[in-house]
Amino acid sequence: MSYISLYRKYRPHKFKDVVGQNVVVKILENSILNNKIGHAYIFSGPRGTGKTSIAKIFARAVNCLNSTDGDVCGECDSCKSNIEEELDIVEIDAASNNGVDEIREITNNVKLMPSNLKYRIYIIDEVHMLSTSAFNALLKTLEEPPAHAIFILATTEVNKIPATVISRCQKFDFKKINEKDIVNRLKFILESENRKLDDSIINTIAKLSDGGLRDAINLLDQALSLNKEDITVDDIYNLIGDINENAVFDILTAITSGNIKDVIKIVNQYYESGKNFIKVCEKLEILIKDILIYNNTENYFDKEYEDKLSNYSRIDTDLFIELSTQLFDLNYDLKKSNNQKTVAEIYLIKMTLLFIEKTNTPKAISTKEDDNIQIQEIAENTNKTVNKKQETETEESSELDELLIENKKININNCLYNANKQLKNEFVNNFVSIKEFVTNKKYNSIANLLLKSTPEVVGETNILFTFKNNFEVVLFEKNINEIVKLLKMIYNKDYVVVAVTTDEWNDIKAEYIKNINSGKKYEYQELKKIPQKKKKSTELQESIESIFGEEYISED
Ligand SMILES: [Zn+2]
Repeated sequence: MSYISLYRKYRPHKFKDVVGQNVVVKILENSILNNKIGHAYIFSGPRGTGKTSIAKIFARAVNCLNSTDGDVCGECDSCKSNIEEELDIVEIDAASNNGVDEIREITNNVKLMPSNLKYRIYIIDEVHMLSTSAFNALLKTLEEPPAHAIFILATTEVNKIPATVISRCQKFDFKKINEKDIVNRLKFILESENRKLDDSIINTIAKLSDGGLRDAINLLDQALSLNKEDITVDDIYNLIGDINENAVFDILTAITSGNIKDVIKIVNQYYESGKNFIKVCEKLEILIKDILIYNNTENYFDKEYEDKLSNYSRIDTDLFIELSTQLFDLNYDLKKSNNQKTVAEIYLIKMTLLFIEKTNTPKAISTKEDDNIQIQEIAENTNKTVNKKQETETEESSELDELLIENKKININNCLYNANKQLKNEFVNNFVSIKEFVTNKKYNSIANLLLKSTPEVVGETNILFTFKNNFEVVLFEKNINEIVKLLKMIYNKDYVVVAVTTDEWNDIKAEYIKNINSGKKYEYQELKKIPQKKKKSTELQESIESIFGEEYISED
């Protein structure tokens, strides 16, 4: 036997079984009871609030042969006929049949008498999807409907329906169903199914479904089909890829306290549990909006929530406004990206760096002492450039650093020596090919990173890229071998690449122009050899690896 979804199984067949919408139901019942049935109705309201269910019950009830209270009797021939096969109850999904032809067919057939029932009912779902000409065709029928025809137009967007159509109809506004009613219905279903769920879970389902009973029942169905003994509230959030309130606070705390390690850890957890990063981003946006409201009003939210918000009240408003701008950009980029995780990571790290930079007290808020030291190192190293010699470094690694810095300078020099406008134009024209690698499992992270760069100088063998942020330059340098490989696949050339921040580039450019004007000639320079044993990771690379993971950028 095929599985029947709980939603279909517990769909109401009588007015008295309908959850919520008491006003609508009462008026419809009375109209049947008093024989004052209209010929055109608009049922408007949010999704999953019972518009189609009530339309079907109404179609039954007006045709019931021995209704005494305006409801369906459930016993007569008319009530017992299969609604799916009933010729006189016509259901149309305007979202799929939005052509004028379908409506013309209806308006032609509407003149014919019903085959079995008293009334022929046309239920047009998502009616706002009809084209203008289809609406015009429908309007003609609505102006002079035959006595045996009833139209029920259901829509979630009544504002898209022409006023001429609305004025011909009785309009019913369906409300979101309140949480208590949803909870009771879910409990009824659980009892009938002989299943048990904790109250906290039932309440969470009701809350998340936001007044839509259909969503609530579908979510219950999914939860039950997990076939787990102890379903948790988190399971429910996972089912819809959403995150719960505490998890939003967790990530905001990690960002505002400058704890990059926690940010990355949380992003990984989200990723592993299949969270939808767009939802995460939206939840963060709402939280920040709430903090701004809390900081500027009194007693706006309930006490418990305000207590949580108060933890962020000392943070500068400007920082939060900057954060919400970034979240807005993140949301936009997430919707375009095939690799949500990397996009989310880059933005969230960027936001965290913002707090490290602006508040300069990552120590005070972070949780573990050794994390703090590491975070400070990362913050310093990524915010300044690699060329700062650290006093604590061993002689060997500082020697290596000097070599790397020197080679970077040589690379920049060679780029400037090599620079060729025509080659640059050709390179830039093909640069969009990188987008093809955004869906490639192995190269998606690198492709996404490169798409954030600008190829500033291009020569026969050398390219200089610029990035807005230094941490992107750090990621670039860490993955330089993979980047060279990717470029080879696209351009069939072994490029020597180097990356700097936009700020650094402006300085380099100014110096270059000054040099050229004073007659200096750039010459090709050989790179310094790096001793094999020193090639291992530098302290900076190690600390980055421990935070980003060794395979940070090349992971799936
Ligand atoms: Zn009946």
